[in-house]
Amino acid sequence: PVVLAVDLGGTKTMASLVQGGEVLDTVVLATDRSGSPEGWLAAIADATTVWHGRYTAAGIAVTGAVRNGMWRAMNKATLGIEGEFPLVACATELLGVPVVAANDAQAAAWGEFKATSDGSDLVFMTVSTGLGGGIVSGGRLLQGVAGHFGQMWGPSGDNVPLESRICGPWIAAEAKRQGHECEPREVFSAADAGDAWAVAIIGGVARRFARLCCDIQLAIDPARIVIGGGVGLAPGFLDKVKAEILAIGPSAMPELRAATLGPRAGIVGIADLAL
Ligand code: ADP
Repeated sequence: PVVLAVDLGGTKTMASLVQGGEVLDTVVLATDRSGSPEGWLAAIADATTVWHGRYTAAGIAVTGAVRNGMWRAMNKATLGIEGEFPLVACATELLGVPVVAANDAQAAAWGEFKATSDGSDLVFMTVSTGLGGGIVSGGRLLQGVAGHFGQMWGPSGDNVPLESRICGPWIAAEAKRQGHECEPREVFSAADAGDAWAVAIIGGVARRFARLCCDIQLAIDPARIVIGGGVGLAPGFLDKVKAEILAIGPSAMPELRAATLGPRAGIVGIADLAL
């Protein structure tokens, strides 16, 4: 069967036709962060009208928490949703096929689990507009809010969740605060070129993320921690995180990998969950 798979993030929305784990076709839209769930769904339906009739089921992966088909924001800075939104009911009506919904990082965790053949436990984390995650343990994707590591409090004692300082928008905001108004991608380039301000910003993100990986190893002890997201997959980021982990010298060493499916992990995972 062919599935319409959607990955709705705080910055971009991907929609693909997927068959047997293969992505047949993809469209990417910018997510209008000032918009509403109704608007985002309408934009997806609009962008995929040419595929209508080709799929018999749909899967929607979204940033935020999904329970019993209802969607709510975990961090309104990533995507603002007021209260709870009946995601499955609205998408079913709009698309005219059965719909399954899940958190985006949980879907990506499932996609990566299916893509790696050995069946061992994994944790997936996406460093993107926010910091999301998912856990596959004993061959089962943990549901509810399991894996929302970005919502945990860091060790700083400050009253902010971890993801407010381990994400793309923090990199941009911190660069701007220091007089360098630019995209996270450019901060990475400046860090590669050796600019001290940028090295410090990226280094700080890598260090905080490294500590989180070590904490996760102690909590869950997965065979591997798989990393995705625009920042997570930025050239050089994973190596910086690994170096920070070595510097920590943790009592349990996490095994970090880049997402095998790259930015398509969520799409492939939600397509499988939809069946
Ligand atoms: P979403 O959060 O919508 O799932 P992404 O995973 O692409 O989307 O994450 C978006 C964040 O990642 C933005 O803050 C963006 O600036 C940043 N980003 C995207 N590509 C890169 C890159 N090559 N290098 C550094 N940062 C990037």
